[in-house]
Amino acid sequence: MKLLLLGAGGFIGVNLTERLIKDGKHNVVAVDIDDEKIDYLVETKSPKLEYHNLNISSDEAEIDGLVAAADVVVDLVAFANPALYVEDPVGVFDLNFTQNMKVVKQCLKHKKRLVQFSTCEVYGITPAKAAEQFGLSSDTHITPFSEDESPLIMGPVKNHRWIYACAKQLLERILDAHWKRDGFQFSVIRPFNFIGPRIDFLPSEAGGGSPRVFSHFMDALLYGKKPIKLVDGGEVYRAYTYIDDAVDCIVRIIEDNNSNCEGQIFNIGQPENELKIKELAVRMCELFDEHFRAEGDPPRPEIITVSGEEFYGKGYEDCDRRIADITKAKTLLGWQPEYDIDQVIFKTMEHFVNSHREKQKKESGEVF
Ligand code: NAD
Ligand code: UDP
Repeated sequence: MKLLLLGAGGFIGVNLTERLIKDGKHNVVAVDIDDEKIDYLVETKSPKLEYHNLNISSDEAEIDGLVAAADVVVDLVAFANPALYVEDPVGVFDLNFTQNMKVVKQCLKHKKRLVQFSTCEVYGITPAKAAEQFGLSSDTHITPFSEDESPLIMGPVKNHRWIYACAKQLLERILDAHWKRDGFQFSVIRPFNFIGPRIDFLPSEAGGGSPRVFSHFMDALLYGKKPIKLVDGGEVYRAYTYIDDAVDCIVRIIEDNNSNCEGQIFNIGQPENELKIKELAVRMCELFDEHFRAEGDPPRPEIITVSGEEFYGKGYEDCDRRIADITKAKTLLGWQPEYDIDQVIFKTMEHFVNSHREKQKKESGEVF
């Protein structure tokens, strides 16, 4: 098949592209506005990869041509960083909904199947947290989020964090509406906290910025300029999925060998890898000391608590818990995640540490 990957230069995109090239079964046409992460794949000059630096917002004619020539379109383009949801909610809605809708329309026009990346954040907060906020009994049972049954519960409009989830949810609803009305072929993917090599930049190397949590904690471990900051005490839960497990599931959805993915929404996650953010911080410190600490590294960083408003600004609200029900991916795709939480943290950390050591060597003149 000829696969068009939009946003192929991001974290999931490069890991997916690498796997597809390795498999060698499909031709990949990769599109992004940022070449930095995908450069290492472009440099391989693989005959299976064609890369275009294009913007889905402004290069409509070129994207339309690529959609027309593709068998399947995979749309990964989004602003996917919580710091941005409260900093620039209008920009987040514009890219994640309005610009992505252009791709939907091109797929409709050319009758192409679309695999659309959404988010586990569409589930919002748990019914248990919502009950607690309304002063109701909080003994509501915590159940895993299930694609076609769970309600989607968001906070108030003033909490702009939810604009990301709302944009993604609206996109999902429109895809399903076109499926119902026009027989539009689509599948939706809801990722549950994937991590792994190339997830995000380190603020000390990028001169600032606010990546996702793993990179913040790695930055504190490797550079020691700032403490590990736990937002509101790090009491919320996340369940981390290793990128290779995730990519394995994504490839099954793209290939759809059993022809049972049409019109389906898939959770991709590893519900068994759940821990509190404060536990993630401690485990990262322990694994770093055990396996990676080297002479000259800064001492183990202090772990402090900061408020959500202080860290992200006004309008931040957190998701309390996200446990994926992955029954659908298991039964329809025969998929099963393999990496446990320590392996997920270790392997992701290994990539960051190796890149950092490489950089240190270059800076000290050991490697040219
Ligand atoms: P990412 O930010 O690393 O990748 C997004 C890519 O889109 C970037 O490379 C960016 O340069 C590109 N892009 C942005 N604007 C563009 C434009 N106008 N034209 C072309 N390219 C553009 O994010 P990711 O973690 O790889 O996530 C991919 C998708 O999965 C997103 O839709 C995100 O919302 C969703 N998602 C990811 C996770 C996760 O755990 N990583 C969780 C939930 C949802
Ligand atoms: N967080 C934290 N310290 C940081 C960065 C993030 O405690 O330096 C928290 C954040 O408030 C959230 C969790 O870690 O509770 C995960 O945040 P991330 O940015 O990775 O994205 P999310 O999972 O919320 O989409």
